[in-house]
Amino acid sequence: MPSPLTRRGFFQQSFGLGLGAFLWQTHHPLWGPNGRHHVVRRPGTDTTPLIITSHSNETGRKAMETVWEILMNGGSALDAVEKATNIIEDDPEDTSVGYGGLPNERGVVQLDASIMDGKTYSAGSVAALENIRHPSSVARLVMERTDHVMLVGLGALEFAKSWGFEEENLLTDKARERWLRWREEHSDRDDWGPPDHLRRRGEQGTSLSALWAETYGTVNVLAVDANGDSAGITSTSGLSYKIPGRIGDSPIIGAGLYVDNEVGAAGATGRGEDVIKSCASYYIVMRMRDGRSPQAACEDALQMIAERYQAVGLDFLPGEKFVAINRDGEYGCATMRGTRPPRITVVNQSGLSIYEGTIAFPADE
Ligand code: ASP
Repeated sequence: MPSPLTRRGFFQQSFGLGLGAFLWQTHHPLWGPNGRHHVVRRPGTDTTPLIITSHSNETGRKAMETVWEILMNGGSALDAVEKATNIIEDDPEDTSVGYGGLPNERGVVQLDASIMDGKTYSAGSVAALENIRHPSSVARLVMERTDHVMLVGLGALEFAKSWGFEEENLLTDKARERWLRWREEHSDRDDWGPPDHLRRRGEQGTSLSALWAETYGTVNVLAVDANGDSAGITSTSGLSYKIPGRIGDSPIIGAGLYVDNEVGAAGATGRGEDVIKSCASYYIVMRMRDGRSPQAACEDALQMIAERYQAVGLDFLPGEKFVAINRDGEYGCATMRGTRPPRITVVNQSGLSIYEGTIAFPADE
């Protein structure tokens, strides 16, 4: 039997983050009927409605502030997650999502997104979508206006345009300059790196790990509304400088996102190839269905991935970050070793908080 994760528990936020959150809140009076703001809170004490995002930056917080109004006015989790994601997709400073996302190796921004509605048990997604800044809204139309779940590439673009989405160049100067620098330094530290079967322990894992930690980024938004219905979105520009056409986990239902109205929702960021192989979001939700808390279920998924890699003698890469919520208003997040402590922005009736989850180490570390 594998031993449990060697590191558990919840870490208090750094003073710096706490101070930042305090200052931010001072300038953004909000929310919740009692107007209280908790900067750090342990899971298990919250009620619904509830909305979380994997983004803990200012845009993430602003998105949460905006959509909390929707949830407090009896709006649906589905509307709330879409609106919040659109705000994050609009941020030109965010190089991992929507407008301003880092491009593929040819300098073209290709976006992936998925949406799932627990109330209707429906899902939609788009992949390798170019020139449309809100892929999550296109995914919603796929879900609501077609009999399909997934559209990719040109088909997704034509579909979006037919619904009135306007094409635009999503490549900002900031993203283009980073892409040009990457191109100048083109090396084995990019998406053309060796596949798993060539990446035996100790061979090339270190340099790849260092790079991959920088080049992933995605947003997850998950919510439970006042009716107890759940919804979620995952949206991303994917692995930066990827091979054109490469699709990660974000648009794949069960990998980058899964929602079960009886249980809750889960989403993933990080190395999509690992998340696809492990069907991680589905796994997390099923663990919650078995009674695990969102926090424990996220850690279970990381442990499962680490064990699979270890079983075949491969070094796994750091980078996966999982987030989850349940119908009881609990939430959690965890990330693989070697990456920054995972943070999520949480809003419920107690106000906004930045919650820091766990870095889950594999059993043999
Ligand atoms: N999971 C995304 C992908 O593999 C990227 C990320 O989350 O950083 O495309």
